[in-house]
Amino acid sequence: MTPFSYARARDAADAVRLGASPQAKYLGGGTNLVDLMRETVERPTALVDVTGLSSAISESDDGGLLIGAATKNSAVAEHLAVRQRYPVLAQAILAGASAQIRNMATVGGNLLQRTRCTYFYDEDGSRCNKRAPGEGCDAIEGFNRIHAILGASSACVATHPSDMCVALAALDATVHLQGPGGQRSVPLTALHTLPGDRPDIETVLQPGELITAVALPPLAGAARSTYRKVRDRASYAFALISVAATLEVEDGAVKDVRLALGGVAPKPWRASKAEAALRGGPATERAFLAAAEAELADAAPLHGNGFKVELAKRTIGAVLSALAGGVA
Ligand SMILES: Cc1cc2nc3c(=O)[nH]c(=O)nc-3n(C[C@H](O)[C@H](O)[C@H](O)COP(=O)(O)OP(=O)(O)OC[C@H]3O[C@@H](n4cnc5c(N)ncnc54)[C@H](O)[C@@H]3O)c2cc1C
Ligand code: SF4
Repeated sequence: MTPFSYARARDAADAVRLGASPQAKYLGGGTNLVDLMRETVERPTALVDVTGLSSAISESDDGGLLIGAATKNSAVAEHLAVRQRYPVLAQAILAGASAQIRNMATVGGNLLQRTRCTYFYDEDGSRCNKRAPGEGCDAIEGFNRIHAILGASSACVATHPSDMCVALAALDATVHLQGPGGQRSVPLTALHTLPGDRPDIETVLQPGELITAVALPPLAGAARSTYRKVRDRASYAFALISVAATLEVEDGAVKDVRLALGGVAPKPWRASKAEAALRGGPATERAFLAAAEAELADAAPLHGNGFKVELAKRTIGAVLSALAGGVA
């Protein structure tokens, strides 16, 4: 492991000051970063501990919720307002990792956790463009069962691993940032970038920018929302496919729908094509499956993960049918 300094930030401004060096990294629960440092995939020379920053969940002026970036994943999942008004978020968090890890992991760290592509972690034995740009990608011809079917590139086919982010994408969450240039906010769906020819760049964050909070907008329909995760084991496994959805049905028609997918793409994937196909149309299983078909029309599976295309379609259909109350 590369030697590093450690400092604990008093507040966001202090964190940004301490995090100004290009080799500095913010430290949340350390459940991903410390593993990557042990494997020497990440080699920061300074760690800025941001677990002392805001960990409050508060009502915002617009009727939504504001979640401090240092809030533990378990605290978000257990919060009454989250469970009642945004159940998809509580369910997504509880579908991830283990109770012990969720007790350590923070909201900020969850947003920026890195891919679980095994070649990415294999510093000594594998080629990886995300780790070493220009080196090549051993996943494309290798073991790629867990990899992406949407949004990937010829440089990188890794998926984004977070369950929480899939729910946040469906909920139109906003991420608040603070950096050397001041404060700004970005929609969760615009935080992560697609790999293109630079898979080492994963977000729109500028050097030294800190995540300070996540805002959930008021969404009446989100009380009727759900998360379904399909995986190899019932617990302690990342998603092969996951679906986060909210659905409002009126007089048999889809009044509003929000749909996001996990396990399919290098970022949490907002299923905009499926949503557009559904809005205003009949809330039937046939319509749900047709919308899933539209979303997956551009899927480009690899030799090891063709099953994901059909699995994604069926999971979308099943989730929306369940939310609609078992439609025909
Ligand atoms: C065995 C295991 C199984 C897991 N299973 C799942 C799963 O099924 N689903 C799932 O979603 N996740 C899973 N995880 C991942 C887990 O959710 C993440 O490790 C965790 O959310 C990261 O949070 P953290 O606070 O520990 O982040 P850290 O490891 O501390 O940091 C992660 C990254 O975020 C950056 N960072 C942290 N806080 C901030 C901030 N405020 N501003 C800017 N940058 C910041 C760090 O610099 C680092 O780059 C699993 C992890 C393990 C070890
Ligand atoms: S898929 Fe991406 S992360 Fe995995 S080996 Fe290829 S370049 Fe690296």
